[in-house]
Amino acid sequence: MTEFGFIDSIKTLFAPLPDNGFEGIGDDCSVLSVGGGESLVFTADLLTEGVHFLRTATSPRELGRKSLAVNLSDVAAMGARPVATLLSIALPADAADAWAAEFMLGYRELSEEFGVTLAGGDTTRSAAGITINVTAIGRIADAHIKRRSGARPGDAILVAGELGLSGAGRPLRDTPRGRAAPPAAAVHRNPQPQVAEGIWLGSRPEVRAMMDLSDGLASDLKHILDRSGVGAEVAVEQIPAAPGADIRMAACSGEDYKLLLTAAPEAAERLAADFRIRFGTPLHPIGRITSGPGLVWLRNGKPEPLDWHGFEHY
Ligand code: ADP
Ligand code: MG
Repeated sequence: MTEFGFIDSIKTLFAPLPDNGFEGIGDDCSVLSVGGGESLVFTADLLTEGVHFLRTATSPRELGRKSLAVNLSDVAAMGARPVATLLSIALPADAADAWAAEFMLGYRELSEEFGVTLAGGDTTRSAAGITINVTAIGRIADAHIKRRSGARPGDAILVAGELGLSGAGRPLRDTPRGRAAPPAAAVHRNPQPQVAEGIWLGSRPEVRAMMDLSDGLASDLKHILDRSGVGAEVAVEQIPAAPGADIRMAACSGEDYKLLLTAAPEAAERLAADFRIRFGTPLHPIGRITSGPGLVWLRNGKPEPLDWHGFEHY
């Protein structure tokens, strides 16, 4: 079964149970309205040794940062401000002391940078390999929440940064620590969540749908299309490939943690101009939402059948 097949089966199995006010499975975070025009958002991500990282390649400090960064990215993807996390770690005997202390320093660094409280968690011994689970909680005005389901036909599709650099760095991630690693590998190990950008985009009413790019544009955009009941046309030559990455890599490789959004067409240019003034970097227009169905790649304005897919983790 695929990752998303499994998630769909979970959704079906649990659909009859009470939701207790939580928005269900399927967005970057689950949303709980807490009254007074405010909501809390919740997300969890798991990193496991051998699958998400290699102990020989990623330092414990980098991993402490990364395990928090990927969760903050999901909170920002809703337009929310991250406020707290819960951290659970399973540690084998050979990672119990020095490794764990360094990991916590990295986790603390990023917690401090974004003003996030560590509110609890769990610690246990592991028979084999390190496993890290982070739950992050964010806070947001109800009116600012951006869901994957908000896209409408005609919307501009925009990406809040260049893509593919983390993917270009992935094959290099086995570069032993201590040796000068290429910049792309460093980016792969040190993703920067777009927290300020997410909060700012959340406050803009012309932004209609948003998510973070963790599995690659080719896969992730489809989540917006599915949940919004729309299609899209993406101009391949407009996909902002980072230096060192080609367009295919930019569309298909994961772990960029850049925000993907749709915006009302008449306001998209203004939004991009304001974003540039605020953050000094562009919002890249890559296409538009259609009544669908499906994702159509265009090259020089003509549809091109491309068998492009993102990451599959399961
Ligand atoms: P993201 O990449 O933003 O973390 P995904 O697209 O991978 O999110 O996940 C899709 C949705 O499935 C999310 O809403 C996530 O919370 C949910 N999900 C994933 N795994 C599980 C699980 N084991 N149980 C319940 N929900 C899950
Ligand atoms: Mg996400």
